[in-house]
Amino acid sequence: MDKSINRLLRLVAVLMLVMLLMSSDAKTAPRNVILMIGDGMGPDIVAAAGAYEYGADYHKFGGTKKLTMETLDKHFYMTTFAATGNGYDYTWNNGNRDYPKSGATDSGAAATAMSSGVKTYSGAICVGPDRKDVEIITEYARKMGLKTGIVASANFNDATPAAFTTHNPSRNDYQKIAHDMLYVNQPDVLMATGGLLGTPDDFGLKYFAQVDWDGVVAGKTGYKLVQSREEFKKLITEPAGGKVLGLVPGIKILKTCNANRKSANPAQPTLKEMSQAALSNLANPNGFFVMIEGSNIDKLAHANSLDGTIGETLAFDEAIAATIEWIGKNGGWEQNLLIITADHDTGYLNNVKPTEANKLPAVKWGTGDYGWGGHTNRLVDLYTMGKGSEVFNGLATRHTDFDHGDVTVVDNTDVFKVMKAAIPVVEK
Ligand SMILES: [Zn+2]
Repeated sequence: MDKSINRLLRLVAVLMLVMLLMSSDAKTAPRNVILMIGDGMGPDIVAAAGAYEYGADYHKFGGTKKLTMETLDKHFYMTTFAATGNGYDYTWNNGNRDYPKSGATDSGAAATAMSSGVKTYSGAICVGPDRKDVEIITEYARKMGLKTGIVASANFNDATPAAFTTHNPSRNDYQKIAHDMLYVNQPDVLMATGGLLGTPDDFGLKYFAQVDWDGVVAGKTGYKLVQSREEFKKLITEPAGGKVLGLVPGIKILKTCNANRKSANPAQPTLKEMSQAALSNLANPNGFFVMIEGSNIDKLAHANSLDGTIGETLAFDEAIAATIEWIGKNGGWEQNLLIITADHDTGYLNNVKPTEANKLPAVKWGTGDYGWGGHTNRLVDLYTMGKGSEVFNGLATRHTDFDHGDVTVVDNTDVFKVMKAAIPVVEK
């Protein structure tokens, strides 16, 4: 009798120890998943930015100095084609330079692939080819007890931030997307441009219904609204404690950065400051998912502005540096997963030739040689590091690419798989 009671007590003690270990593990192991997307940031754009900064870029030209994104411990290439394209042919149809013009994705389909793991048609916002809603990583993360955040340097309801937050068969349904993001889906932190001014100009009523904006100002969404650079900066050191909506009003994109970064509007927050504010307001014991987009690389590449494209890429790289610094102070790589990639290549930049540091490299844009200034179907870079980033290794395949030679490649839908795997399952 005594023996069996002893055994029972021992069993109970062991069980209690196991439960204690499990609960403390859950408490001390937040999993923050940080995805950073350079919109339109093809590999030649990264190379051009490195060429400007250092005279040669580490990855492309074997230079010794790296952009911050290139310091991560894993590098892959990534396919970006949409469901409606013809996939990606590594031979480029036997070396046909016109090949990347066809089958390129838009930001909606690319962001949907990364946020839901589903390839869809261009223009879709987290609906599949059948126009039915697909589950978004932010919806999943929230179910597992994580906070969610979205940061962009263009309007909050542009395709990429929208496809990490809500569902719509068309990215152009701006007013409804704005309403759904702010009143229905409600990420814990949303920072971008797009508040209405008294007289809407650049970002106007086409994008945002007056009644929805009035509701935000009146506090009907439950968000603390911040608009000035000073307010954004204050949030870095003094988190608000609740849901935060940071909208730089009246504009569609932050003032463009030139390569020398001297042209930014001092009245506006930088992408770096927005990222820092978002991270400190999302930090919590259960972890968070955040998507941070350098939105305007694409817009400047469409315009074939090399100065602006490099400037926006370097501004994005500064946001990456601040994020890595934050990771260092908040659990390190053991408790954070960082993924940096692009949704597609824009402008078909090619023939990048470095000159010297702080000088624009010699380049060719697609418009000159191939009559093409839009998105291309070329591979993009994916840099990753931290807890769970090794999952990419198991998904990657080896290829010989016409553009880049022997490469290790993942698909944009793999981004969703890796992020989902990094979020601990919480049974309810
Ligand atoms: Zn574009």
